[in-house]
Amino acid sequence: MNNPISLTAKAHQIIQEVLGEGDIAVDATIGNGHDTLFLAQIVGNTGKVYGFDIQQEALDNTYQKLKANNAQKQVALYHAGHETMSILLPESSNEKIRAIMFNLGYLPGGDKNRTTGISTTLAALEASFMLLTTGGRITILAYTGHPGGQEETEAVKEWVRGLPAGSYRAALGIQTARPPSGNDNITERPELIVVDKM
Ligand code: SAH
Repeated sequence: MNNPISLTAKAHQIIQEVLGEGDIAVDATIGNGHDTLFLAQIVGNTGKVYGFDIQQEALDNTYQKLKANNAQKQVALYHAGHETMSILLPESSNEKIRAIMFNLGYLPGGDKNRTTGISTTLAALEASFMLLTTGGRITILAYTGHPGGQEETEAVKEWVRGLPAGSYRAALGIQTARPPSGNDNITERPELIVVDKM
C-alpha cells in the first residue's frame, strides 16, 4: 500500500522551513484543498495564496474547506491550468513567491482520467521557477501508479536536472519507508521532489 498521507505531511514540513507569515505561496494543484489550507494558515491574512485547478469541483471543495477554517480571505483560486500562472498571477508577485506546491495525478474521489500531464506540468514548473524568490522552494508530489504517472515523474526529474548549475538545489525521490508488512506495491509509491532557487 502506498502512503501519500505521510508524504504529504513531509511536504508540509519541508515547506514550513521556508514559508512564514505575510509570504506569498502558490498551490499549483488545489485538488481537495488540503495544501491550500495549509499554505493559507501559514501566510495568514497578511500573506497571499494563489491556487490553480482545471476542475470546478476542486475549486468548490477547496473554497468550502477554506471557509470552514476562516482562511478564505488570503486565498485567490483560479479555475485555470497551472501552466498559465505567469499570465494570471499579478505582477506584484513576480519573483516574490516563497513556496509553490504541486500534487500531481488525479483528484481523489473525482475523475481519474483528468490527471496532470507532462507538457503542462513542465510548463508550470518552468514558470514556477521564474516566479520564485531566491531562497524559495517548490515541492512536487509525483505519483507513479496511474497511467502516465511514471513518465510524468521521470520528466519532472529530468526537468530538475536540466536547471542551470548553481541556480538551484534539489532533493529527488524522497519516499516514505516501506510498511513492515512488505506488501506494498512499489509501482504505486509516490515520490517527493524538492527544488530550491538559489
Ligand atoms: N494525487 C493526489 C491528488 C492530486 S490532485 C492524491 O492522491 O492526493 C491533482 C489535481 O490537479 C486535480 O484536482 C486535477 O484537476 C488538477 N490538475 C490537473 N491538470 C491540471 C493543470 N494543468 N493545472 C492545474 N491543476 C490541474
